[in-house]
Amino acid sequence: MQAPHKEHLYKLLVIGDLGVGKTSIIKRYVHQNFSSHYRATIGVDFALKVLHWDPETVVRLQLWDIAGQERFGNMTRVYYREAMGAFIVFDVTRPATFEAVAKWKNDLDSKLSLPNGKPVSVVLLANKCDQGKDVLMNNGLKMDQFCKEHGFVGWFETSAKENINIDEASRCLVKHILANE
Ligand code: GDP
Ligand code: MG
Repeated sequence: MQAPHKEHLYKLLVIGDLGVGKTSIIKRYVHQNFSSHYRATIGVDFALKVLHWDPETVVRLQLWDIAGQERFGNMTRVYYREAMGAFIVFDVTRPATFEAVAKWKNDLDSKLSLPNGKPVSVVLLANKCDQGKDVLMNNGLKMDQFCKEHGFVGWFETSAKENINIDEASRCLVKHILANE
């Protein structure tokens, strides 16, 4: 068997308001489990996910859970440093968390850019879609437009609970990061 030729290590941020499911998404993606027992993370958590992208390419994702820092301020700058991409998460059952999405995006873009000066790739996650009560009433068209206006490379309805679209969202983000290199 031939060894992979290319290895990439990417720091990815998972940001968004408190309780939207950031930690749950990482747990589902990396550890294949879910717990409904709520425990706000304190400090910062890291998780590593290895993707065998294609026969020649291994991608290591270092996922940063911006735990307990769900406030804007100078702390986020430290977390953002050297990230190559991000997920911004909101909770489809809580409109206020969607309203915060643009603020998170602005905060990120004002503090972080790629070494080549371009903005980092960001994917928007509409989490808890298993709840079946999308109070935002955003149809796909509106979300597509929102993403275009705010510079997201894509969006997905996700559920950490039911394991919906998390792998797809990650592949979308990695694809854009690889294309940017
Ligand atoms: P964080 O503060 O953004 O890290 O949010 P957590 O991951 O701690 O999740 C907050 C709460 O939402 C917890 O009780 C989770 O079990 C719950 N939760 C997270 N993701 C989902 C999901 O996809 N569906 C449902 N129904 N609940 C979720
Ligand atoms: Mg958390």
